[in-house]
Amino acid sequence: MEMNLVMFGPPGAGKGTQAIQLSEIHGIPQISTGGILREAVEAGTDLGLKAKVVMEKGELVSDELIVGIVQERLTKDDSKNGFILDGFPRTVAQAVALDSILLNRASLLVIELDVPDEVLVGRLSRRAELENRSDDREEVVRERLRVYQEQTQPLVAFYQDRPTFRKVNGDQSPKEVQNVLEKTLRDLIEVNAGLESLN
Ligand code: AMP
Repeated sequence: MEMNLVMFGPPGAGKGTQAIQLSEIHGIPQISTGGILREAVEAGTDLGLKAKVVMEKGELVSDELIVGIVQERLTKDDSKNGFILDGFPRTVAQAVALDSILLNRASLLVIELDVPDEVLVGRLSRRAELENRSDDREEVVRERLRVYQEQTQPLVAFYQDRPTFRKVNGDQSPKEVQNVLEKTLRDLIEVNAGLESLN
């Protein structure tokens, strides 16, 4: 059955690492909007030029721009058995748009990866050294965390009443998080199958 998964959580929560593993295990694409934007910046396209300034400040690109990118990406054949969205939605407006993009598809499974701020700052400063991501510099990290609290945290209220929403503790080793995620997903798939059979 189609597995349509959204993972959200603050920068440094481990979304990317976990989404890539889940994508390999389940054979569905990991779609990272941050990754798509970084590629565009690298390639120097119009989109890249627009995104670069915003990303370097740690802010969010416009809902309109990013929704357009995701909408187009989800029409590709490789996502017909499902997908893992990593870093989208990041605002309630994006979440509303995603619901309408997916109207005729299997319902969304939503996982919030929860990690305390002080752990994130440490993880991101290590990533800054390893990956040389310009938005992992300390001032930008603080801004990204602030933007997360302000614009993305409200997704919890948006999704939490759905039976297919779960919060997972991301403050554990990558392996432990992976195990919990697998268990959580099995549970969500079951809940979802029950719901679909009612329709
Ligand atoms: P990420 O790799 O997910 O941390 O994304 C890196 C940066 O790309 C973010 O700080 C934003 O500037 C931009 N970005 C990625 N996804 C989105 C999104 N869904 N909405 C707006 N901006 C985004």
